[in-house]
Amino acid sequence: ARTTAAARSEGPGRTSDGHRVPLLANIGGPQDLPAALENGAEGVGLYRTEFLFLDRADAPTREEQLAAYRAVLEAFPGAKVVVRTLDSGADKPLAFLPPPAAEPNPALGERGLRMMRRFPEMLRTQLAALAEAERDTDARLQVMAPMVTDAEDAEWFAAAAAGAGIEQAGIMVEVPAAALRAAHLAESAGFFSIGTNDLTQYACAADREIGGLSRFQDSWQPGVLDLVALTASAASGAGRECGVCGEAAADPVLACVLVGLGVTSLSMGATALPLVRAALAHSSLEQCGDAATAARAARTPEAARRAARDRLPGLA
Ligand code: PEP
Ligand code: MG
Repeated sequence: ARTTAAARSEGPGRTSDGHRVPLLANIGGPQDLPAALENGAEGVGLYRTEFLFLDRADAPTREEQLAAYRAVLEAFPGAKVVVRTLDSGADKPLAFLPPPAAEPNPALGERGLRMMRRFPEMLRTQLAALAEAERDTDARLQVMAPMVTDAEDAEWFAAAAAGAGIEQAGIMVEVPAAALRAAHLAESAGFFSIGTNDLTQYACAADREIGGLSRFQDSWQPGVLDLVALTASAASGAGRECGVCGEAAADPVLACVLVGLGVTSLSMGATALPLVRAALAHSSLEQCGDAATAARAARTPEAARRAARDRLPGLA
């Protein structure tokens, strides 16, 4: 049994009946590449580029950015690498890009794409460095914007990416309004990646930085599952892929539920990959779908988890 479990925790992600679910790594920079490769990541689903920008007095130059992006793209020849453009503000303030005014609720303030729309030159430099890194390597670059709120945001970002010569541009779905209007956003977004950390924070109105609100900082909240389902079904209707790159993807039971809700790829911290790969390998797509339906029918996060778990008998 050990050998089987080990064998199943290698290779590409798929359910027991062969439905493919690419399993990708979340990284913060080139330093995370060895763990991603060791754990069999099929690509990068979320490269959080803000670490290049934090804790310094000036923005990184285009050359500095190019070196980091090239190192990441080179590590995954032929594979998908999804780079998130700068997501600063809120819990990640930058010394050189101050908010326009003091923000009593930074999570509801100028962060992510909102900041880039005020400093478009910053985004242009980043996209130019990414386009150049792509030209130098064989990876399949995709870029995505954080904190997209409405169709106008999605269009603005798609135009910025196209202006830099980047064809594959998508958006993170982490604002409830974006999830609710996913069908409209899909008109200009090439793909979706659901950020369940922020989607949960905003859906449950519970600041992710505040301890003591853990009951609401739980992606098993049935309301969050509903938003994921809505987004995945809008994506499917528009012929778009819809991944998840929040912490939810790293929970093996929830990962199966996400697949059952129609999510097409999962991205997570590299060390979670083997357990999620094994959980999928022991569950059929139908079981994942039944688990998802049962979880959405539940009234509480605990009941949702229990209901899903009961319908995934292959899990250890
Ligand atoms: C998320 O919000 O789920 C996400 C993946 O982005 P971050 O955790 O960096 O905000
Ligand atoms: Mg986020």
